[in-house]
Amino acid sequence: MRAIVVKAYGGPEVLSWEEFREPRPGPGELLLSVRAAGVNPVDVYLRSGGHGASLLPFVPGFDGSGLVEEVGRGVRRFHPGDRVYFSLWKNTGAYAERVVCREEEAVRLGDTLDFAQGAAVGMPCATAYRALFLRAGALARDVVLVHGASGSVGLAAVQLARAAGLTVIGTAGGEEGRRRISEEGAHHALDHRSPEHFRQVLEITKGKGVDIVLEMLANANLGKDFDVTAMGGKVVVIGSRGLVEIDPRGLISRDLSVMGMSLFCASPRERQIISAAVAASLEKGILQPFIRMVLPMPAAAQAQRLVMEPGASGKIVLVPPAFV
Ligand code: NAP
Repeated sequence: MRAIVVKAYGGPEVLSWEEFREPRPGPGELLLSVRAAGVNPVDVYLRSGGHGASLLPFVPGFDGSGLVEEVGRGVRRFHPGDRVYFSLWKNTGAYAERVVCREEEAVRLGDTLDFAQGAAVGMPCATAYRALFLRAGALARDVVLVHGASGSVGLAAVQLARAAGLTVIGTAGGEEGRRRISEEGAHHALDHRSPEHFRQVLEITKGKGVDIVLEMLANANLGKDFDVTAMGGKVVVIGSRGLVEIDPRGLISRDLSVMGMSLFCASPRERQIISAAVAASLEKGILQPFIRMVLPMPAAAQAQRLVMEPGASGKIVLVPPAFV
């Protein structure tokens, strides 16, 4: 089969579309024909050699969708021909014509979703759910600031929070992103490129601040997040790309909690809970992955450049050439 292969860590140019060993399903595993793969920022960190990098050579990608081609011994829930989306918990390999996943890493793809949307579900929806409900303990009537709401995780968080009865303040750097987050349910859409947006959060909350911050770029915002978080509030750090200076007095003065959140820390039990909750939200139309761009899989380098650039508005997916 053909796949995007990384043989040396480096820039996007190390992503090469070439022949790679055919995966075979073992007991409890499915062999899938990939129809779309989701591009996540962590794919870029791994390709660059950071973030607990994989052993070389490797095929990138945790998320995707496709058709079941073959099932391994003991698989009960799936049959050849089933449409599924998947999110690999440990290995990578979605940027390929075929991939093997464990039975519990796959979920049946509902008829209302196409393969591109299926590929957009895995990591973004699970991250948003875990951060909002399992880490921050969000409840109806809370006010949440989704700091970086125009990307894949942010849009899922906006959709989930709105449906759960929270007041949602989302931010985006571009006009298209702000339009998108309003359409997906944010009550307020602010511009995180403007320093004014922190003052606007306080205006919206009548000086009280928000109960929860979901932070996508902590190195840019963490210090200032404390100033817009209400008494006893929680700041969940989901993404960061550098160092940041904070004044701990901001935490002390209002009993704030700052917590990290990595999906890779989720226990198998938590993974099951998240997977069931996400599937139910998709079925009810609460979660509706928004696709920004579909590219042919050999253009993975372009996709990985784009995912790191400002101006997010949904998900970038890669489709094997036979299905473009
Ligand atoms: P994405 O689709 O590329 O979106 C990135 C988001 O960050 C966009 O909304 C972008 O907004 C926003 N952003 C840019 N500058 C910002 C600023 N100054 N303040 C606040 N937000 C800003 O990426 P994603 O998949 O949603 O992931 C978001 C972050 O979470 C990434 O850093 C990723 O590595 C991380 N992540 C962590 C986990 C975990 O388990 N902890 C899981 C998944 C993702 P504009 O483009 O509109 O400026």
